[in-house]
Amino acid sequence: MNNTELLQRSLAAVWHPCTQMKQHVNTDAGALPLIPIARGQGAWLYDFDGKRYLDAISSWWVNLFGHANPRINAALRAQLDTLEHVILAGFTHQPVVTLSERLAALTDHALGHCFFASDGASATEIALKMSFHSWRNRGFAQKDQFLSLAGGYHGETVGALAVTDVDIFKEAYAPLVRSAATLPSPDARQARDGETPADVARRAAAALATHLEQHGEHIAALIVEPLIQCANGMVMYDPEYLRLARALCDRHNVHLICDEIAVGCGRTGTFFAHEQAGIRPDFLCLSKGISGGYLPLSIVMTTNPVYEAFYDDATARAFLHSHSYTGNALACCAALATLDIFAQDDVLAQNRTRAQKIAAALAPLAEHPRVRHLRQRGMIAAFDVETDDPWFTRTFYRAALARETLLRPIGNTVYVMPPYIIDDAEIEHLGQAVAGALTDTLGAA
Ligand SMILES: *Cc1c(COP(=O)(O)O)cnc(C)c1O
Repeated sequence: MNNTELLQRSLAAVWHPCTQMKQHVNTDAGALPLIPIARGQGAWLYDFDGKRYLDAISSWWVNLFGHANPRINAALRAQLDTLEHVILAGFTHQPVVTLSERLAALTDHALGHCFFASDGASATEIALKMSFHSWRNRGFAQKDQFLSLAGGYHGETVGALAVTDVDIFKEAYAPLVRSAATLPSPDARQARDGETPADVARRAAAALATHLEQHGEHIAALIVEPLIQCANGMVMYDPEYLRLARALCDRHNVHLICDEIAVGCGRTGTFFAHEQAGIRPDFLCLSKGISGGYLPLSIVMTTNPVYEAFYDDATARAFLHSHSYTGNALACCAALATLDIFAQDDVLAQNRTRAQKIAAALAPLAEHPRVRHLRQRGMIAAFDVETDDPWFTRTFYRAALARETLLRPIGNTVYVMPPYIIDDAEIEHLGQAVAGALTDTLGAA
């Protein structure tokens, strides 16, 4: 196999996700090169000729401890010879039990019940269904509406699109979707003169309060991405919003669903993002980083009251939802190996230092005349670029690749979200690639 052969065969046989395939063939300004990857090692991806790319977006936000991580590999090899998968209905196994216990302990047992699926969108579907069904079982069947935030992203299946507010993913399917009400985002960039991010959060929470006063009795749950709305361009907001939303949900008998599919597993500096607000949700959705970026796995964690609403003699009152690979033993094993690394290496403390170094590497960009809102929380940093170029996203992407770096801006927002093993030299490479790609794209400042 070589680069050319892989590309040709991929274009003939693989329908790539989130892609207009014709752009892989085009050569104009909107062209998007398809990149062959032969192998990965640490923070780097390599093609068949040894050309390398720093994986500065953790392969779509999933990879935490590098590619071909020796410890996760060893755990998976041992699991392969023990049990690869077994039906989870009526059967159980050690990796799924241990993982559930360890995750529950990480929430101080506030969320002591783990329900398993394979991808993030399914976790959203499960949380929505479980919330509605638990209210129905408790005699509140009129609670059949959901609330979500402007610019929120919770996955792209038809059910998850109901609470997703990103036009490019939703517009074509709008007739199929029963959309949730969309409330103002606490996006800190909306701060008016003299306002703090916490003021913006209070304004957004006031809109939530008004909505709940009018419609609360019909609402099952509010779903949010704690602290950062990633897919809408790394929109960051103050934890005050989560505190106020938690109190308002309690007052109106509405569940709070924290979708930590992207921001969980240490991304924002704490293991769970909601910890920074000092609250607990009623449902916590995890996926992406939880398996270290190795295998598809998602988990919905919930509370005793929700669990007890289903616990009954009647089968129809149970949560009769399943996926073929629910609780897959290999995926759970990868997640356990990932949690082991967190515990053994004191990853959160190390990431505090790493995040400071990333901030220092990107700091000079704040002076760039076209850069706006340079922002960071933990292991995610982002800025917006003022440009009229409709092809900015593509041009920047190609310029970064030419500088041995994988960066995929979202619209005009450039962000970095590297794996937690990125070292000093790699951070320096990243800083230079971002600044260099910006100059290549916009011309000298
Ligand atoms: C990625 C993501 C999802 C969807 O996960 P998939 O595994 O891609 O279906 C849902 N919510 C958030 C916040 C995400 O970032």
